[in-house]
Amino acid sequence: MLTNNSSSTSCVQVSRDLQQQLVLLRLSLDSPALQFPEIWLRDNCQCNVCYMQQTRSRLPHGWNYLDPTVRLLQLSWCTERKSLQIVWSDGHKSSYALSWLKERDFSHANRARYLRDSYRPEQRLWCGKEFQLIQREFLYDDLLHNDETLLHWLHHLAVYGLALVRQAPLEANVLRDLCNRVGFMRSTTYGDEWSVKAQPGASNYAYLAEPLPLHTDMPYFEYKPSITLLHTLQQSDSPGGWNLLSDAFYVAELLRQRYPGAFKVLSETPVDWADIGSEKHLKFHNIWRAPVINLDANGRYVRINHSIPQRDSHFSVPAEQVRPWYEAMALFIRLANEQACTFKTTPGDVLTFDNVRMVHGRTGYDDTDQNVRHIVGAFLDWDIAYSRWRVLKTDLGHYNK
Ligand SMILES: [Zn+2]
Repeated sequence: MLTNNSSSTSCVQVSRDLQQQLVLLRLSLDSPALQFPEIWLRDNCQCNVCYMQQTRSRLPHGWNYLDPTVRLLQLSWCTERKSLQIVWSDGHKSSYALSWLKERDFSHANRARYLRDSYRPEQRLWCGKEFQLIQREFLYDDLLHNDETLLHWLHHLAVYGLALVRQAPLEANVLRDLCNRVGFMRSTTYGDEWSVKAQPGASNYAYLAEPLPLHTDMPYFEYKPSITLLHTLQQSDSPGGWNLLSDAFYVAELLRQRYPGAFKVLSETPVDWADIGSEKHLKFHNIWRAPVINLDANGRYVRINHSIPQRDSHFSVPAEQVRPWYEAMALFIRLANEQACTFKTTPGDVLTFDNVRMVHGRTGYDDTDQNVRHIVGAFLDWDIAYSRWRVLKTDLGHYNK
């Protein structure tokens, strides 16, 4: 219900929806009105008493004073200052700039724009056959020196979960320098960086490095390292040693459509993920309980957990839930393998992927004294990567384009 006390100055019209307790702002006759809940406007007053410009946050004096009984008394539009003026029943007077209001309009379209542009870009799920279409390569030197390339890489990694960096030097600091460009490395119980190198046997017979089945790294952490970086220093000349990668969000979606019963089991049955051991004098005993497929309140994918060796023999669910879980998991593993893409990195490549979303592995290879594969790995976290993505978008003017 609209009241008739709307005021009109130039082409901006302000009015109220008394039933919904909204302030409506119409910028032109042919566009829908911007909408703002009155209680939210009061909470977000921009004056020096309520808000600190320097920290871009509310001032603490009102923290224990959320008064939902405050009412809007007067509403007007100031053409000169392009701002909305409100007098409240607690005697407070507020002013809101048009640009600030437009950015925060509660319409569905504007909220979707904000979530897509400023929260996180929309993820595109992909099947194994689409690998060539979604694959992008970035030059290491560009990432270190060009902010546009850095932003493009982070964006691609967020949308597709996978990006290949090429022509990195065969040196020790490659991953640290790249992580420092984003923010900082994520440390774990295994330190900052780790080395993957099959140890040949003492004798000179060929040592077969076993295939590494698809998995996510470190599912036993509540705060799982969320971006994996793998720097190839040496690659095996044997026919093996191929990378396998599968978009497990896509696999989960396949499961949801084709096998809804299995999907329900894998998204609702908590699994005990564990890692017990010691590393450089630190003894550790990590456990995290969570399903293989983790959904948010809206049913969207937030995390995949999967690692055969790091799935504990403790399975803390009622006994009757165990067999259905194994049957559902067998389907998940089959689909993940069917949807895997394969490629072989060469020295100087840095493979980067979303460890929350992708499952990865590699084929077996022959490792001898003359035929060595040496990979260095490290982690970043999405909190840090998304923060950098937003800062770069602001600094490079992408929000204004
Ligand atoms: Zn105020």
